[in-house]
Amino acid sequence: MTWSLHGKGVSRGIALGVAHVLRRDAFELYEYAIPEHDVDAEIGRLDAAIEDAKAHLRDVREKIPPSTPTDIAAFIDTHLLMLDDGTLIDEPKRLIRDRRCNAEWALKLQRDKIVAAFDQMNDPYLRTRRDDVDHVINRVLRILLNHAPVVHFEADSGLEGTVIVADDLSPADTLQMQHQGVAAFVTEHGGPTSHTAILARSLGVPGVVGVPHARRFVREGEPLIVDGGEGLVIGEADQRITGHYRTRRDERSKRGGLSRLKKAPTITADGHAIELQANVDLEVDYEAARAAGARGVGLFRTEFLYMNRETVPREEEHFAAYRRLVEAFRNQPVTIRTLDIGADKKIESLHSTRVDVANPALGLRAVRLALKEPELFMPQLRAIVRVSALGQVRLMIPMLSCIDEVTQVVELIRRIQQEFRRQRVEFDAAMPIGGMIEVPAAAAYADGFARVLDFLSIGTNDLIQYAVAIDRVNEEVSYLYDPLNPGVLRLIQMAIRAADAAERPIAMCGEMAGDVRYTRLLLGLGLRVFSVHPSLLLEVKQAIATTRLEDVKAVVSRALRTGDPQRCATLLAGLHET
Ligand code: PEP
Ligand code: MG
Repeated sequence: MTWSLHGKGVSRGIALGVAHVLRRDAFELYEYAIPEHDVDAEIGRLDAAIEDAKAHLRDVREKIPPSTPTDIAAFIDTHLLMLDDGTLIDEPKRLIRDRRCNAEWALKLQRDKIVAAFDQMNDPYLRTRRDDVDHVINRVLRILLNHAPVVHFEADSGLEGTVIVADDLSPADTLQMQHQGVAAFVTEHGGPTSHTAILARSLGVPGVVGVPHARRFVREGEPLIVDGGEGLVIGEADQRITGHYRTRRDERSKRGGLSRLKKAPTITADGHAIELQANVDLEVDYEAARAAGARGVGLFRTEFLYMNRETVPREEEHFAAYRRLVEAFRNQPVTIRTLDIGADKKIESLHSTRVDVANPALGLRAVRLALKEPELFMPQLRAIVRVSALGQVRLMIPMLSCIDEVTQVVELIRRIQQEFRRQRVEFDAAMPIGGMIEVPAAAAYADGFARVLDFLSIGTNDLIQYAVAIDRVNEEVSYLYDPLNPGVLRLIQMAIRAADAAERPIAMCGEMAGDVRYTRLLLGLGLRVFSVHPSLLLEVKQAIATTRLEDVKAVVSRALRTGDPQRCATLLAGLHET
C-alpha cells in the first residue's frame, strides 16, 4: 500500500528513483584516560585527523566541475576554515591536556558546548549554523574512529538516479552527490536554511529534510518518489500516483527546455516590450541571472552581509560585495536595497532589545531601524555611494511608510556626497534613489512617493501581509495571504497608476512577480518591469510572450470593477485559459 513521509522541502523538483539508504549509525563515544606521557601523542593523533579531514575537503573542492556556479566552493571553504578555527580545534587540545582524556571525547565535549550555545539563539538561520559545526566535527570523529568517511561517493559508484536516504548530509556530501547524478536526497535532520539546503537549491538537486526515522521506513533499493517542493517522500506508489509524478517531473524538465528563450527579447504577443530583471541574494545567483538573460538586478538584498556574525560589516566589506555585484552586471542597472533587518530577519550584532518585541513585523525594521542605528547604516550608505562610480547603481529604500523617511535618507546621502566631493572620492551624483512600496499607506500615497523618488518597486511579500493584517510567518492565518485579494490588487493598481502618472518607473520584486499564475494579471494591471528570482526568469518570459496586452487589460479592469468576488475570481482565472 502506498505510504508517504513528510518533512521540509528544501529544494524544489520531482524525482523518481530507487532508494540508497546510508546506514552510518551514530558512533558510540567513550571517555578514557590518557597517561601523562601519551598526552602529546594524543594531541598529535587529533592533529593528524584534522589534516586528513582537510585533505578530503580539499579533494572535494578540487573536483568541483567548472560548470558549477563559482561560489559553491565557498561552502567547502567554510568547513575548511572551521578546521582552522581556534574554538573548534584548540579547545579540544586544551581538554586533552588538562583532563587527560582521549581526542574523541575532547571533541565531543567541545561540540556539545558549541551546539548548546547555538540552540539558545532565537534566530532560526543562526541556529542552523550548528549543522556546520556538527558536520565538521563528525568528519574528524569518523577519521579518529576509523569509520567510513561521511559519504564517499566514488566515481561510477552506481548511484546515478538513486534517492539518497541519510541521517544528515554535509555540503561536501551534497556536492559529491551531484557529481554522481544522484536524483534526490532525503534526510532525517537538517533545516531549510542549512548550507546543505542552500547548496542543493543552487545545484538543482531535489531534497527533503527533517523526515524523522526515514532510514527505518525506507528499504534499500525500493522505488521512491520525492517532491522537493512539498517536502514529500512516497513509497510503494501505485501506477496512478507514479504516472502523476512522472508527468510533473517531465513537465518541469520541459520547462528546462525554455533555454531557447535566453537570448530572446522580452515582448508580449502583441509587441509590447517588458523589462525582466533579477532578484539576487547570493553570488551563485549572478551567473544564473546572466545566463537566463536578466536585464540587470531589480533587487539585491543586503541582509546577508549582516548575518552569521557578531560584528557589524564595515564600509570596506560592503564596498567589496557591491563591487563584485556591479562587476558581474557590467553595463546593466543594479538595484542595491539598503538593509532590511528586523521582524523575521534578525541579526546577531544588533542589540536584541531592539527587535525582541511583541510585534516585530510592525516594529523597528528596515529603514526605521537604519535611521535609528547609524552604525549599521552609514557604512552601507557610504559604500553604495562609492560604488556608484563603477556602474549603473541604483539605491532602494525598503519599507517606506512616510515621506519623511525618504527625506532623511536623501539628506544622509547628500551629506556623504558632499564629503566625498571635498575628498575627491568619485561617485555618480545622478545615482537614482528609489523606494519599495510594501506598506499599504505607501501604496495609497504612491503619487507622493513618486514625486520624491526616482523609481518605485512593489514588494508584495510584505504589502500583502500588511494589507490583510497578518504576520507572514504565522501559519494560523496564512490562509489569508492571498495575492488575489481584491483589496491587494487595488493597492497594486493604485501604485502602478500613480507611478505612471508621475512618469516614474515602477517594478515589482515580491514573489508574486515570479509566479506565472499572476503574470497576465500583472500585465493587465499595467506592470511593465518584473524582478524575479533567476530560476523563474524564463518561465515568466514565456508567459509574457504568450500574452496579448490589450486583451488582458480589458479583463483585469472588468474583474476589478465587479462588486462580486466570485465573478472577479472567475474572470481572473479565465486569463490563463488561452
Ligand atoms: C517583499 O516584501 O516583497 C520583498 C521583496 O522584500 P523581502 O521579501 O526581502 O521582505
Ligand atoms: Mg519586504
